[in-house]
Amino acid sequence: MSVAAIEAQPRRRRSLRVLIVGAGFGGIAAAVELRSHGIEDVTILERAPDLGGTWFYNSYPGAACDVPSHLYSFSFAQRRDWSRLCSPQQEIFEYLHEVARDQGVEQLVRTGRTVTACSWDEDAAVWSVETSEGERYEAEALVLATGQLHQPHVPLIQGAGQFAGHTFHSASWDHEYDLSGKRVGVIGSGASAVQFVPEIAPRVAQMTVFQRTGNWFLPRKNRPYPALVRRAFERVPRLQEFRRRFVFEYGESLTLLIRHPGSIGRIGAARSAAFMRSQLKDPVLREKVWPDYTFGCKRILFSSQFLPALERANVELETERVQEIVAEGLRTADGRLHELDCLIWATGFRTNDFMFPMAITGRGGRSLEAAWQGGAHAHLGICVPSFPNMFVMYGPNTNTSGGSIIFYLETQAAYLRQAIQQLAARGAGAIEVRADVEAASDHAVQHRFAGTAWTACDSWYRDAQGRIVANWPGYMREYAEQAARLDASQFDFEPLPRQAAVA
Ligand code: NAP
Repeated sequence: MSVAAIEAQPRRRRSLRVLIVGAGFGGIAAAVELRSHGIEDVTILERAPDLGGTWFYNSYPGAACDVPSHLYSFSFAQRRDWSRLCSPQQEIFEYLHEVARDQGVEQLVRTGRTVTACSWDEDAAVWSVETSEGERYEAEALVLATGQLHQPHVPLIQGAGQFAGHTFHSASWDHEYDLSGKRVGVIGSGASAVQFVPEIAPRVAQMTVFQRTGNWFLPRKNRPYPALVRRAFERVPRLQEFRRRFVFEYGESLTLLIRHPGSIGRIGAARSAAFMRSQLKDPVLREKVWPDYTFGCKRILFSSQFLPALERANVELETERVQEIVAEGLRTADGRLHELDCLIWATGFRTNDFMFPMAITGRGGRSLEAAWQGGAHAHLGICVPSFPNMFVMYGPNTNTSGGSIIFYLETQAAYLRQAIQQLAARGAGAIEVRADVEAASDHAVQHRFAGTAWTACDSWYRDAQGRIVANWPGYMREYAEQAARLDASQFDFEPLPRQAAVA
């Protein structure tokens, strides 16, 4: 039905319930945005026993953000008293709680609810949502805010299950287990490993880090802010604002390096190489650590502690492929047995799964999994054709390598709020992005990756077919420009079903 035809209809009203799945930064951002624009009937379903999302689950030693907190925070809830440049997990977790409480959305969160299925009921124009606890919810609009980094990935390695020692994933750290004096193996050397390895290295008897691919590093000196600096942030007018703007521009400059690997990107690579050389004196170790791909293709790691930790006498970096898990530990491809008491998986997340294994069924019984068979795609990462009144937060192609995901989440929250406002203002039953609009924006996103560092290696940004489905290919400001204003002509609107209309 055309927009004009809808506008000609008498306005009808019905309740507008919004169900949000996930109470991390995305879910909280969406709830705050909706409530502050008068959309009151909002419920957030959360699998965990608390809100927080990734900052609830990832509590490993040293867990912290590597984006400075002045930017890794909501624009509407700026704090002047961050303890350091990049806040630790507990501080971010408390911040999110504080925001949810202050903004009056904390009480909307229903914890311990694992959503298993969401189906669009065309006759009633509502989403029907089921949980593994046997509950059923209904809502006119559905927001999937599960993000890209919530399902731990444990690779299938021969002999899995044979290990007689203790084992856990970095995203479900076993704080009860005492690592002191233990022989510890860490599989993976990505953003999580580089944070906890230096923290636990002094405690363990022996540690082997099994690295498949080396990484590019840049410094991160994360000492607590001196009292003088903290006082300055609190008292000097606009200093906080200036700092946020500075970090924003720094993030954009990282994207610039990644977007132009053959020219200005070389400066980033040289800076990183000089830093890594200064950190690693041992030439053999240096060679083992050195990345063999273009700077910026995978996530650049910010750490001034990880490389020195590898030089400790009780730490070994193993670059032989892990071939087999046995009762005593791990065997590498060279036949060597690494005896371990504890094996820690720092192997990341099933990023391409997005909200799956949730079964999402849209118009005409269409499954989202089938729609995304050739790779996940959504208009601005938010709207998917055939899935009316459904909005994804931190969806396909909205991850950032150089900025703050919270900036993107706020933009997405404002966008979906506009969609829901359109629904209400037009008295429509459904809003759905046009397939041609989504296809064109997907084409533009994929095209914009051409020539960038992201295309120069394999990474978790890609799906099995090699298509980059995680990352936004440009700058934060570019995304904000494109998603700032919802263009109603890019959407189809459906009238309110007869039985749903209230006179
Ligand atoms: P990750 O970056 O995906 O790293 C996983 C590591 O496991 C990589 O070293 C990977 O090697 C290795 N690996 C995966 N499968 C393997 C296999 N079969 N055999 C051997 N090694 C294997 O995961 P992560 O460290 O948990 O970080 C995930 C993302 O979370 C980051 O990229 C970042 O976006 C986010 N994060 C952010 C922060 C922050 O401070 N903001 C902190 C932690 C995490 P390859 O490189 O060869 O694939």
